[in-house]
Amino acid sequence: MAKPLVLGNWKMNGSIPANAELLKGLRDWDASKVSLGVCPPAIYLPQCQVVLNGSDVAWGGQDMSEHDSGAYTGEISSQMLGELGCQYVILGHSERRQYHAESDELVANKCAAALKASLVPVLCIGESQAEREAGETLAVIERQLMTVINHLGLEAMANTVVAYEPVWAIGTGLSASPEQAQEVHAYIRSRLGDVANSVQILYGGSVKPDNAAELFAKPDIDGALVGGASLKADDFLAIAKAA
Ligand code: PGA
Repeated sequence: MAKPLVLGNWKMNGSIPANAELLKGLRDWDASKVSLGVCPPAIYLPQCQVVLNGSDVAWGGQDMSEHDSGAYTGEISSQMLGELGCQYVILGHSERRQYHAESDELVANKCAAALKASLVPVLCIGESQAEREAGETLAVIERQLMTVINHLGLEAMANTVVAYEPVWAIGTGLSASPEQAQEVHAYIRSRLGDVANSVQILYGGSVKPDNAAELFAKPDIDGALVGGASLKADDFLAIAKAA
């Protein structure tokens, strides 16, 4: 198993001066024990590339098109992310699924396009509050995950990262308990067959400096996808240190 991975999802936050400050606080990270990366709004990727080049900190996109190029106004391709030195791309985030009607099939196509461009897809999956209350958590995970596995094949999954992000825990301050997360992470791993131990499974949803260590202590939690707490260097680094 690779070392733990902690990724920041800035969402639609940041400004050139604020990013400069945040990135300055991150760029001395030593990734010998824990890998660290940031996913800013795409328009700030060149800024990240300039500041982080030569550092141990990786960067990536928050989304991309399933298409390679062409008449897709407003879209960004995998190749464009690659050109800007991205290593990762978050795909299928619940906010994309919810506000942009991204289907499991579209997310699977995007994962395939990312792999083709040698980007590591960070595939986000997770159930809503209503689905959890209805006892459908594992069925939702199964559907979201298997659509991608069936599309890519198990072997290709070895080059992906999976992020379990229960929708009810995102931005709410209400993290899944370590036990709730572990249950789903173990389930995800059980669906990954021969490549199970090559896939990093991150937890995301209100990860903070004060709950990170107990989450990371669980055997199938290999790191975190951090939203709000990735916007302050101190908080983000405290989470990475706990991994
Ligand atoms: P949060 O977001 O840490 O602010 O809950 C996590 C995410 O949406 O990736």
